[in-house]
Amino acid sequence: MQAVETMDTIAAIATPLGESGIGIVRISGEKAVELAKKIFVPAKEQKWWQGRGYRLVYGHVTDPRTGEVVDEALLGWMRGPRSFTREDVVELNCHGGIAPLRRTLEVVLHQGARLAEPGEFSRRAFLNGRIDLAQAEAIIDLVRARTDVQMKLAVTQLKGGLSEKIRFFQDRLTDLLAACAAVIDFPEEVDETPREELEASLSGLIEEVGALLASAKQGKIFREGAFVVIAGRPNVGKSSLLNTLLRERRAIVTEIPGTTRDVIEETVNFKGVPVRLADTAGLRSTADPVEVLGVEKAKELLTAADLILVLIDASAGMTREDREIIAQTEKEKTVYVVNKIDLAGGGEIAGQLREMTGGRPVLQISALTGGGIEALEETIFEQVTGAPAVATDALLVSNVRHQNALERARRALEEALSGVRRGLPEDLLAIDLREAWEALGEITGSTVTEEIIDRVFANFCIGK
Ligand code: GDP
Repeated sequence: MQAVETMDTIAAIATPLGESGIGIVRISGEKAVELAKKIFVPAKEQKWWQGRGYRLVYGHVTDPRTGEVVDEALLGWMRGPRSFTREDVVELNCHGGIAPLRRTLEVVLHQGARLAEPGEFSRRAFLNGRIDLAQAEAIIDLVRARTDVQMKLAVTQLKGGLSEKIRFFQDRLTDLLAACAAVIDFPEEVDETPREELEASLSGLIEEVGALLASAKQGKIFREGAFVVIAGRPNVGKSSLLNTLLRERRAIVTEIPGTTRDVIEETVNFKGVPVRLADTAGLRSTADPVEVLGVEKAKELLTAADLILVLIDASAGMTREDREIIAQTEKEKTVYVVNKIDLAGGGEIAGQLREMTGGRPVLQISALTGGGIEALEETIFEQVTGAPAVATDALLVSNVRHQNALERARRALEEALSGVRRGLPEDLLAIDLREAWEALGEITGSTVTEEIIDRVFANFCIGK
């Protein structure tokens, strides 16, 4: 997608407002240089704008209305199209205080720039063809990354890893569409497309799109983090486990059953996955209204959880209440943890659990001494990511928007494949192929609607 009209010149403070060494006012557009000439007085007589750009010039931001020196600054400039937005870009590296940055911006705006909307610089980079939509989204992910792994995934996507793959799929679809079009347009000259070939190409594509989709569960967990809930009857050691996992004592630890009434939540970095840990008040049936509230909340949490740790107290043995909790938690997303093995052997309960839960992980720990915690952490990681380790250079689909588009593409491809098998004519097959092509194009933005573009860039901050 290319820009259809000349865009006006925009400006914004591109660094967070606060006290810092430097702060940057960014200007992009046709008038960026002309405007900067008026408000920036270089220390040495020089015509910086005549050069090739990509250099820093020392001088002062000055209000041309009054001659007042606003700040000492370094002016950097990039001549379009060799800039982030592909337009002329000027960056004023000012002092990072709130007042000097605001004043500098005000002077810039007074000279005819418009205040940029959130994400508008990146939007221009997209509209002017410098990055595609998936890459623009990677910029937000990169800015927001809280762990190393999130950062690496964003960088892979920013470098165009995903986009390349999507274009590769689209190229193959284009070939198939061309073959269909030839049959439709020149039925006399062109024989119908060989069905076996078509079938093989489509099956191959479906498989590859499927493989990419299979990475989405893991990708989503890395991008958005996982939610792990600790459940179990009162006093089995939920708060203690939470504390041990957090390696700090935030949750309330008490010997009176049922006092951890509220849900306690903390987020920790589990080998690159941000894991939100919650300790529930337990699933106890009780008449105490405060605790009933807790029980309701606990049930909500269990539904929302990506993974549940059900705790059993080795020293108390398996009780009726434990069995009830086990019955109430979804097996597929549960790990069973026998706690307090420093007090009593957990082997017997572990055996019982294995029988009851058919192949789900059963671990033995002591939240008090820390025994078995490392293995538990490994298991949590494996369970939430679906893999023992992460290949951080791998191509993972981490964005729900991309996942939805891939799913639509796969459905359309499956339709097309079934059409081929049923012997449908080329013009009908082409409809499904085109739909798949367009769904894929939404990921990179080549076939995207204005509405989707708006939604993507609305997530950006000002100055990005
Ligand atoms: P919750 O009600 O499930 O949150 O249980 P707590 O974490 O409050 O623990 C209840 C009691 O069990 C506290 O006195 C803890 O110190 C104790 N406790 C928890 N884990 C262990 C453990 O592994 N070994 C021993 N010996 N005591 C534990």
